[in-house]
Amino acid sequence: MTAATGPLETRVDRTRCVGTGACAATAPADLTLTADGRAQTLRRSPSDLELITEAAELCPVEAITVHRADTGEQVAPLY
Ligand code: SF4
Repeated sequence: MTAATGPLETRVDRTRCVGTGACAATAPADLTLTADGRAQTLRRSPSDLELITEAAELCPVEAITVHRADTGEQVAPLY
């Protein structure tokens, strides 16, 4: 497992999102639903890695991931 050191970046694959809203309910400071019913990040770096990881794990289509900003390596979720 890679240590989540340094700047991180939350990504949402909006082409996969089916608009359940579970992520925005779990991490409202970081994720929201837009007018098209799909999730979008509110900030580049996660405000709370644990919450974002939980939101990512709740996503039924695995659309949310967190990466190291420098290398792009995925740090969460790690299935
Ligand atoms: S949990 Fe996944 S499918 Fe649901 S709104 Fe968030 S990104 Fe979209």
